[in-house]
Parts: sequence; structure tokens; C-alpha cells
Amino acid sequence: MERVFNFSAGPAMLPTDALQRAKDELLDWHDCGMSVMEMTHRGKRFGSIVEKIERDFRELLAIPDNYTVLFLHGGSRSQFAMVPMNLLNGASSAAYAITGLWGDLSAQEASRYCNINEVVNTKDSRCTSIPDAPDWQPIHDNDAYLHYVDNETVNGVEFANVPASHGKPLVCDMSSNLLTRPVDINKFGLIYACAQKNLGPAGVTMLIIRNDLLQCKALEFTPSMFRYKEHADKQSMYNTPPTYPWYVSGLVFEWVKEQGGLQEMDKRNRAKSDKLYAFIDGSDFYDNPVRVSARSRVNVPFTIKGGDPDLEAAFVKESEEQHLMNLKGHRFVGGLRASIYNAMPMAGVDALIDFMMDFEKRHG
Ligand SMILES: *Cc1c(COP(=O)(O)O)cnc(C)c1O
Repeated sequence: MERVFNFSAGPAMLPTDALQRAKDELLDWHDCGMSVMEMTHRGKRFGSIVEKIERDFRELLAIPDNYTVLFLHGGSRSQFAMVPMNLLNGASSAAYAITGLWGDLSAQEASRYCNINEVVNTKDSRCTSIPDAPDWQPIHDNDAYLHYVDNETVNGVEFANVPASHGKPLVCDMSSNLLTRPVDINKFGLIYACAQKNLGPAGVTMLIIRNDLLQCKALEFTPSMFRYKEHADKQSMYNTPPTYPWYVSGLVFEWVKEQGGLQEMDKRNRAKSDKLYAFIDGSDFYDNPVRVSARSRVNVPFTIKGGDPDLEAAFVKESEEQHLMNLKGHRFVGGLRASIYNAMPMAGVDALIDFMMDFEKRHG
């Protein structure tokens, strides 16, 4: 069996070591005669798995004691609603920084529940840069929080620094870059990330929330399943959790620890993306539209100069023949995109660059 290099934005490639562990333990976890899939989530065995998952996650991110970690369902899209439902706390507006597709969608969802103060919106310049925070519109006194998306998966822009929130809780969607570099958790009120980019299989969403925010008053009609407090009081087991995705995520956390933690992930992700951007910038055939200071280290969109759709289709087809999968760009922005998360080795980036050179030779 040969594993391909999968450049999908998500569900994305997982570390082979973690999948191998899952395979070895699939039918019989630690001589207990059953699969993790078949265990009660209330039992001692699954309890020991959960304890380790949370310990490793906290250790990797150096999460301080005054933060609660939740493992939730519903993907990041549910958080687009849960954030305002739980954190408005009587306020009628919230501040949103819109630097790409997901930020735009999160603000649209929040607008069902409150007014949106768009402190920055880069749609007019096609979301190819991130203006410095001092150039943003002011946050208002009555905004409950500031929400932003640290890495815009579709547009390939990523914040180099954490923006100031002027005393308001800072809420961040880190769906596509959590665990790809160290983060100073103390700067945040709440961080959320669906698993299927860097953390594990689809089905679980990690949440890190400062404890005081669990005391906010949720909107009256908020269903129990959408209340942070409810999940926190029940250790994320208010109802039956997606036990298997939790377990596989735990194997991924172990893998990240074994590799050297987030410093090492940061180093590798920089090395991979630097190499790919350098190649694209040095080429007269390929182009990346994002301003250098805002480039994502994990999602690299690119176009073939001239934007010929037939040539792009040929690129996708021929790359798949070389076992380089899912390089088609998001339908929203078109073009091509290479997602190179934690599990993508440098060998994958090298193979991609070799293919790109060869493709240019034949079609350029
Ligand atoms: C993938 C992604 C989402 C959507 O996640 P779902 O789990 O499909 O709801 C939201 N925000 C960002 C930044 C993403 O990359």
C-alpha cells in the first residue's frame, strides 16, 4: 500500500503513526477485548483515555488553570452561533474582524443575534492582506467581544500577531492552525477549533474558554446543547460524545508531543511553507496573491498565471496521477491550493514542487 500526499484543506491528512496505532488497537484496546468505539463513555476505561487526551492537550498548549477545555460536537460552524448565544451577556453588539470567508460567515451567523461592528473587512481587496490593528475601526463600549479568524483557510491569510481587544474578551477561530505553533492562551477569552484540519478526525471541536466567561448569561432560548456552562458542568459529557474521534485526536496529540511539541511544529510548518512560497515567487508561471506579511503557513493558495481554467483542470488531473491529491482551490476563490498542515511531511512539499516544475515545463 502506498499512502498519497493529501493536500486537502479538511478533512485532512493525519499522521500515519496515529492511524497505525488506531489500527493496531481497533478490535482490542489494551487487552480489554473491545474497541474504543464500543466502550461506554461513562466507564473507567474511556475515562482514562479522556484524562490523557485533556492532559496532553493542556500540556501542548500550556493552557493555564483558569481555562476550561471542552470537547464539543457540531464543528466550528456551531461555534459561529454558540459564541454570540453564550457571550453577548446582555450586550446588543459584538466586534468582528473579517479577513476571509470564515470570518465573513461567522459574522453573518452572529448577525441573527446581535448587531455586528465590523472593525475591519478586507473583502474589497479580496482578502489578500491583514491591515495593522491600529488602522481598524474602533471597538465600541457596548461590543461584548472581538471575534477574529487566526488563519483563513480558504484565502490563505494568517495573523502574524494577536490583535489587541482593548479589554474585551478576544474570541478566536483557530480551526486550521491550532497546534501548528505556540499560542499565548492568556491573551484569549475563548479559542475554538474543529478537529479535521490539524487535530484529528471530523466530529469533535476543541474549545478553550476562560472560566469567568462561563458565567455569562446565555440568550434565553439557547438550547442546552448550545450552552457552554452545561457542557463544562458535565465535563463535555452532557450527552454521548463522539468517543472515537476524541480517541483518535488523543493519538494525534501524542504524536505531536513525540515530535517535539508546538515549537517543532512551528519550525516544520515554517520550513515547508517558506520553501513553497519561495518556489512560487521565483516562478513566472505560478502566482500567490497574498501579501508576504499575511501569508498562511498552512494553506497556500496559488494560481497559474493567466488563470486559464483548462490549465488548472489539467494541473489537478495530472497531479492526482502523481498521487498529489486535492489541490483544487476552494470553489469560492477558485485557483489551486495546497494545505500543508502538521501531518504533511517536507517530502510532500518537495514532491509538489517537483511536479509544479515539471508541469510548467510541459505547459508553460
Ligand atoms: C474548516 C473551518 C471552519 C468550518 O468548520 P466545520 O467543522 O466544517 O464547521 C470554520 N472556520 C475555519 C477557519 C475553518 O478552517
